[in-house]
Amino acid sequence: MVTEIKDPIEIRHYLHQHPELSDKEFETTKFITNYLQKLGYKIVTPKDLNTGVIAEIGNGNGPVIGLRSDIDALPIQEKTGLQYSSISNGVMHACGHDFHMASLLGAAAKISNQKDSIKGTIRLVFQPAEETHVGAQEVKEAGGVDNLDAIIGFHNKPDYGVGEVGITAGGLMAAVDQFTVSFQGVGTHAAMPNLGNDPIVALTTTVNTLQTIVSRNENPQQTAVLSVTHVQGGATWNVIPESAWFEGTLRTFTHEARATAKKRFFEIVNGEAAAFGLEAEINWQEGPDVVNNDSNLTKVVEEESAKFLRVIKPVPSNAGEDFAYFSQRIPSVFVFFGSHGNTDWHHDDLVLDDAGLKYAIEWYYRIGFKLLEYLRK
Ligand SMILES: [Zn+2]
Ligand SMILES: [Zn+2]
Repeated sequence: MVTEIKDPIEIRHYLHQHPELSDKEFETTKFITNYLQKLGYKIVTPKDLNTGVIAEIGNGNGPVIGLRSDIDALPIQEKTGLQYSSISNGVMHACGHDFHMASLLGAAAKISNQKDSIKGTIRLVFQPAEETHVGAQEVKEAGGVDNLDAIIGFHNKPDYGVGEVGITAGGLMAAVDQFTVSFQGVGTHAAMPNLGNDPIVALTTTVNTLQTIVSRNENPQQTAVLSVTHVQGGATWNVIPESAWFEGTLRTFTHEARATAKKRFFEIVNGEAAAFGLEAEINWQEGPDVVNNDSNLTKVVEEESAKFLRVIKPVPSNAGEDFAYFSQRIPSVFVFFGSHGNTDWHHDDLVLDDAGLKYAIEWYYRIGFKLLEYLRK
């Protein structure tokens, strides 16, 4: 029976072999639930949550600390050649969420051995659908993080060595916005542009002008990235199409930079459209906010971590992380944990080092107890 697996490395290999896509983590949810029930955890997963597990342990008297792991995998065909490669075609734990789950389950076992000394509550938050950036919101809306006094989490970092942890107060991972723009012109013969209204010229001018948001409108001391990544328009060489379309993403680290970029984006797109006398339609989707670490809690986490890990100052990542939906509401700390990989996140040949697990287990365990003690004061 798979739920008899106890060794965290074996747990990770089992989960790696059985990856599931965002919001479809049904077997993963069962596995985690069974495992935690056997350890004596109270399963408190809200009914509205289809996947994911929330579980608690403690005397219910005192602060409530959340320890978070994500649980979903990616639509990637694994090419690692590992003996424990994914058996699910086209699905792979290529972001290392199997590493996160095995760490938190390993910590769960250690915590349950000390359950009589928990003065307060430790709540494990195994959230679904991080990759699609909806899981944290689902958990939040279902009430899974209600009444938490603090929450911590980590993402494995393949370019950090085993036993290394990256900790910083403030912004660690970027706010993510996503946009699409379509220009509606008038199609015509390529040789008679005067008889139509060319959306491709309007699009290319707009794409170039958008680059001035970062170079001319944002504070040069702050980081912002705006990338147009996908352009479509037309079908052949001698016809001017009636419409053209592009999409892309914005990454920022402050509310100010985010608001500035969005405002200028609308002004530029609508302004260029007006200049060319055609219609533009903008679809703007706000993704997760910046992952923002509470400065007081970060100090506590850093001091405790330095007792058994090599603490390094991380370079903030322009990638997004939906832990931000928790960190916007609950004092929190999110860190990068060394997993000594051969390549970066989301690669089909990503292999992580199991030797990093024991440190991550220790981190969840020690920081969980440390924060309970800190918040009781
Ligand atoms: Zn990912
Ligand atoms: Zn990830």
